Amino acid sequence: MSLTGIEERMLIDGQLVKASSGRLYDNINPATEEVIGQVADASPGDMDRAIAAARRAFDETSWSTDLAFRKKCLEQLQTALAAERETLRPQIIAEVGAPLALTYAVQQDTCINDMSWDIGVAADFEWERDLPVSDFFGIKSRKKVVHEPVGVVAAITPWNFPFMLNVSKIVPALMAGNTVVLKPAPDTPWSATFIGKLAAEKTDLPPGVLNIVTAQHPAEVGDVLTGDPRVDMVSFTGSTAVGKHIARRGADTVKRIFLELGGKSASIVLDDADLGAALAGAVMGVCTHAGQGCAIPTRLLLPRSRYAECLEILADSMRKTKYGDPTNIENLMGPLVNARQRERVLGYIEKGKAEGARLLVGGGRPKHLEKGYFVEPTLFADVDPHATIAQEEIFGPVLAVIPFEDDDDAVRIANDSRYGLSGAVSSGSLDRAMAVARRIRTGTMSVNGGMWFGADTPFGGYKESGIGREHGLEGFREYLQTKAIAYPV
Ligand code: NAD
Repeated sequence: MSLTGIEERMLIDGQLVKASSGRLYDNINPATEEVIGQVADASPGDMDRAIAAARRAFDETSWSTDLAFRKKCLEQLQTALAAERETLRPQIIAEVGAPLALTYAVQQDTCINDMSWDIGVAADFEWERDLPVSDFFGIKSRKKVVHEPVGVVAAITPWNFPFMLNVSKIVPALMAGNTVVLKPAPDTPWSATFIGKLAAEKTDLPPGVLNIVTAQHPAEVGDVLTGDPRVDMVSFTGSTAVGKHIARRGADTVKRIFLELGGKSASIVLDDADLGAALAGAVMGVCTHAGQGCAIPTRLLLPRSRYAECLEILADSMRKTKYGDPTNIENLMGPLVNARQRERVLGYIEKGKAEGARLLVGGGRPKHLEKGYFVEPTLFADVDPHATIAQEEIFGPVLAVIPFEDDDDAVRIANDSRYGLSGAVSSGSLDRAMAVARRIRTGTMSVNGGMWFGADTPFGGYKESGIGREHGLEGFREYLQTKAIAYPV
C-alpha cells in the first residue's frame, strides 16, 4: 500500500506549520520497523502559541455562539475526510500497525460516518430551557437554564485507535462551541496531522479554532498544555498513570478533567452458555488489534463444571488465529505499536509464568515474523484472580483464564479490579445474563455477544477507568457548561 498525502506539519492558528525549531522526528511502521516518514516535533513554545490561538478564537470570534456556522464547518471536514479515506487508510495501517479490516470499521470508516451523529446531536440539542416562576425572598423570578461551551479544550489521545479517538474528541468539542488544542500520541501523528491538513485546506474553520500539535516527548509539551490557565478543560484518553498526573496538574486551575483510562475487563461465560460462540468471541476480542484496546475483555471467567471443555475449544481457536502483515485483509491482528510495548507485554508473560499460571498457547515472539513488534496470541489458564496478569492492563494479545464456582463467585472475581471499563457475560438465559450484567461495576457490558459500541452510546469507566463519558448525549454534555439566569417577573 503506497503512502501519499502525508502531512508533516502541525496546525496552529489556522496555518500548517513546521516546529519553530525546525525539528522533525521519525514515524516508524511497527510491522516492518522501517522509518516511513517524519513529522514536526513541537517545542513548549509551539504549544504556547497553539493555546494562545485557541483562547483568542474562543474569546474574540463568534465561533462559540454560531451553531449554524459550526455545523457547516464540521460537515465540510466530514466531506473532506470521506473523500480522502483511501489516502488516509494506508497511513493509519502503516503508523498504527492496525489490521486493514479494522480500518473499514472503527479504526477509520465508522467514525467518519459517525461524525453525522455528533453534528446532529448538537443541532438538535436543547440549549436553553425555562424553569417555573419561583419566589425567593419575595422576588418572583423567571429562570432560564442555558448550556454554553466550556472554553478551550485540550484533547490528548493515545495510539491504539488514534484517528477514531481524535475525531471522537474534536467533533463534539467543536460542535459544542469550544476551541481545541489536540495533542496526539507520538507514535501516531499522521492520524492527527491529516485532519489538520484537511481542516486548513477544505473547511472554513477560523484560525485558532482547531490546533494540532505533535511532539516526540509528550511530557514536556503535554505539561505546558495541561497546566496552562488559559485551558478550561482536558479531555484525555490514555493510561491511568498519565490520567492521574493530568488530573493533578489540572487541579491547580480547577480545570474540568475528563478521563478515559485503562481497563482489565472480564468476560464471564456461565455454565449454560453457547460455548462455541462465547469462546470464539473471547479469542477474537483479545486478538483484535493485538489486544491493544482499552475495553477488550482480557480476563476470561469460566465455570469450573465445564472448565476442561472450554480450555480445549479456546486453545484450538487461539492457535488458528490469523495474524501478521496488517495490510493482509485476512489478519485479525498486526504488531504492537512499538518495541517498548512489545517488551512490556513479553515482561507480563514472564511474570504470568513466574506467578504460576499455566501457559497453554503462545508466550513469545512469533518465529515466522523476523521484523515487526509482534507477539504471539497467548493463552494462560489457572490464573489466580490476584496475579499480576489478572490485575494489570497488559495491552497485548494475552488472555488470562480464571475458573469460578457459581454466578456470585463470577461477579465477585469480575469486580475485584481497580478498573471498571467494560465486560461481557454469556448465558443460555437472557434474564440470568442480564442479572449478572447489572451487578458488574463497569461502564459498558456486552450480553451474549451484543455490541455496545456506537456514536449514540456513552462509553467510559467506573473506578480507575475514568471520569466522564465519550460518545452519546452524555459525551456531548461533557463539553458544556451550565448557566442559570434569573430575571424578575
Ligand atoms: P499514555 O497514557 O502513555 O499516553 C496517552 C497520551 O498522553 C499520549 O498522547 C501521550 O503522548 C500523552 N502524554 C503522556 N504524558 C503526558 C503528559 N505528562 N502530559 C500530557 N500528555 C501526556 O497511553 P498510551 O500508551 O498512548 O495508550 C494506551 C493506554 O490508553 C492504555 O492504558 C489504554 O487502556 C488507554 N486507552 C483508553 C481508552 C478509553 O477510552 N478508556 C481508549 C484507548 C486507550
